[in-house]
Amino acid sequence: MGKKFFAWSFDDGLEQDKKIIEILKDYGLGATFHLNSGLFGDKTYEGRIGNLGMTEKPAASFRSSGFHLLSYAPHFRIPEDEVAQVYEGYEVASHTCRHVNLARCKEEERQKEIADDVKTLSEKFGYPVVGFAYPYGAGAKESREVLKAAGMKYARLARTREGFKFPEDPLAMPLSCWHISPKTFDLLNAFFQTESDEDLFFLMFAHGYEFDFATDESNWSKFQRICEMVARHDDVISCSIRDAFLYHEGKKELQ
Ligand SMILES: [Zn+2]
Repeated sequence: MGKKFFAWSFDDGLEQDKKIIEILKDYGLGATFHLNSGLFGDKTYEGRIGNLGMTEKPAASFRSSGFHLLSYAPHFRIPEDEVAQVYEGYEVASHTCRHVNLARCKEEERQKEIADDVKTLSEKFGYPVVGFAYPYGAGAKESREVLKAAGMKYARLARTREGFKFPEDPLAMPLSCWHISPKTFDLLNAFFQTESDEDLFFLMFAHGYEFDFATDESNWSKFQRICEMVARHDDVISCSIRDAFLYHEGKKELQ
């Protein structure tokens, strides 16, 4: 039988991550946090449309796009002098310095946004950062060589995939599920029930501010229910994305 891995993947380094980490600790779950080293301490708000919060765009761009915003949630990033302590024991990974769209950057900017972020985070957290998430899910094709040169072992997209196999191309790794999906629990149950000779990997994506929307599909108690379900399955190993790859590739032993 193959092994089953589950990882949470959170973006942007937000104040809500502190509460997330408390809950993850209660359930003994692992996670990866994708930070922007050039935006520590930055404060904005995120708009919600309908039942779901859908974007990282600043509020002004909602108004110009004509969408009707129902509410806002704080998108406050953790200040630089707190991050090392907050994320202690969890994998920190890169998300570019300033959350840029890598598909729209010039080559020079793309290199700098990735290489500088990886370097700053690696120094700050005291280990080589090996993971990445594309802001807006964009620019995988354009960034591949830069990511390899920066030592990235995996890079997460924003789109979802079918099935639970490890990604064929770790530098263009789709999600298993965005927690706001109405299919979240069906997908999790399908994962728990799947038996395979191969290793399987469920990658769950969220932004902390989305839990503050407090809608039917995006709220703190749903987050807790997901954690509780994962923790109940003894055959599922919950760890960081980095460790899921290391265990899968036999480069790290399970304890
Ligand atoms: Zn982001």
